[in-house]
Amino acid sequence: MARRRQIYEGKAKILFEGPEPGTLVQYFKDDATAFNNKKKGTITGKGVLNNRISESLMTRLNEIGIPTHFMRRLNMREQLVREVEIIPVEVVIRNVAAGSLATRFAIEEGQALPRSIVEYYYKKDELNDPMVSEEHITAFGWATVQELDEIMSLSLRVNDFLTGLFVGIGIRLIDFKLEFGRLWDGDHMDIVLADEISPDNCRLWDLRTNEKMDKDRFRRDLGKVEEAYQEVARRLGIRIEGGPADVKGPQVIQ
Ligand code: UDP
Repeated sequence: MARRRQIYEGKAKILFEGPEPGTLVQYFKDDATAFNNKKKGTITGKGVLNNRISESLMTRLNEIGIPTHFMRRLNMREQLVREVEIIPVEVVIRNVAAGSLATRFAIEEGQALPRSIVEYYYKKDELNDPMVSEEHITAFGWATVQELDEIMSLSLRVNDFLTGLFVGIGIRLIDFKLEFGRLWDGDHMDIVLADEISPDNCRLWDLRTNEKMDKDRFRRDLGKVEEAYQEVARRLGIRIEGGPADVKGPQVIQ
């Protein structure tokens, strides 16, 4: 296959030039990292699963009027997205105490929060993605007050929608991370959801057993990582008919 010009390589994805101006191809790798790159590994078939899971969630969000960069899936590991100017802020939305929040405030993991909490982190690997406030974001010009308002309101809509969607398939949405970008059309600009939504950047627990179905299985060496991602895909109604040797294990998930 003719290879396109590579624009950027991240930890879990590669971005290539798209077929038309203003588009990019997002390629999902099997590479997994945690603790700011200190832990590295491969989760076989993860890229294929995240491509499908993110497609499914972004499509449903588009359907309820949340603007996203997602256009369409191209193949097992690639999707066509709109080129956006990424805002260097990671937005974390939390419904239940876990991870860094549980550690910082010495709250037991699994405790429901009195209300959803939104946190911002500055996207800067060299600095370990420090947590920042709205003041930092606007003072340093990473986003304007209006853009941040829009980001907050979109994040809460995404949270409400995904929480319900996941409950419907027996999964508790504990927390997740979103990224946003500016989509330009002449002089007009819209804030749109970018990146991906997958078990790489969500905490998903089985509603009945509290079993973890996300990247914490890799971070904490809990085993059965790919099986957990497959189960999320299966519950979302995704069937993967694999190309040769791409997805290890059963080729059809049902
Ligand atoms: N998260 C992410 N990328 C990051 C940091 C966090 O996708 O660089 C996600 C993570 O998967 C979890 C949520 O954001 O769903 C909250 O993560 P937390 O702050 O608890 O950090 P962690 O414990 O993962 O280091």
